[in-house]
Amino acid sequence: MTSRRALLPATAALALALSGCGALTSDSTSGSEGSETVVAGLYPLQYVAQRVAGDAFEVENLTQPGGEPHDLELGIGQTAALSDAALLVYVDSLQPAVDEAAEEVSGTEVLDAATVVDLIPFEDEHSDEEHEGEDEDDHSGHDHGELDPHFWLDPLRMADLGDAVAERLAEIDPDEADSFEERAAELRSDLETLDGEYTEGLAGCEIRTVVTNHDAFGYLEGYDLELASINGFSPDAEPTPAALAELQDLIEDTGITTVFSESLVSPQAAEVLAADAGVDTAVLDTIEGLTDDTADEDYLSLMRSNLAALQEANRC
Ligand SMILES: [Zn+2]
Repeated sequence: MTSRRALLPATAALALALSGCGALTSDSTSGSEGSETVVAGLYPLQYVAQRVAGDAFEVENLTQPGGEPHDLELGIGQTAALSDAALLVYVDSLQPAVDEAAEEVSGTEVLDAATVVDLIPFEDEHSDEEHEGEDEDDHSGHDHGELDPHFWLDPLRMADLGDAVAERLAEIDPDEADSFEERAAELRSDLETLDGEYTEGLAGCEIRTVVTNHDAFGYLEGYDLELASINGFSPDAEPTPAALAELQDLIEDTGITTVFSESLVSPQAAEVLAADAGVDTAVLDTIEGLTDDTADEDYLSLMRSNLAALQEANRC
């Protein structure tokens, strides 16, 4: 966790809170009044919370760096961080353990991005078929027709979350309301610039189909791309031979040059498909989390790397 390092700038504020309220609010069972932390379910939500909160709150990520957030399980440390936090920011139907914690937690405010961002439904026929007959209790399966939680891959929807986080933080800490609103506006401006780069950068692509490892990139269809995935909703599922054969046909029909793997799970499925189809592989980052390799990156730089990778693969 980054909390130890990140706690430093808040020392003064924390000391104030402690001296002001003393024993009354130090009882962790009494909830999170006076708490100086916000916890996020996964990296892109952490990024928004950090941009909007500035120094007013420390922001922690429940998913460890390098960890795959879909299958996150909460340990004692994370559960404690959650119940001590002022606010949990998560997105429903991506991380079952966090969905559950959000229902159980008391004294911590909860912001479900799915309630403030306009989510699109999944529409991936390929994975509809692949998931048929799957055990409903499979922790990584999901019903198609459900909403796609990977909204952060659309910069404008990220901006909507920024505004919602600013509003919620202002309720928790009204003295800082103006600065939350200001920072959310700055974030929106950065994200609108990024959206413009995507619109322009992808406008002239010769190839408009993109094959990725899992169904994370549906929001790119807003830029007039067609997305298909090897593994459906689950990043580390095993693709069936039928699914691979279908994708191989798609690659042939569309002239795709590249099959995309992602950074948090093994690239093996993408490599096997690419080798069979005689095309290249490259990484398209889901931005579901940072890794050792991307520790110096952030949401904006990863989105720009993704754009460059898409432009090269799709001849834009
Ligand atoms: Zn995902």
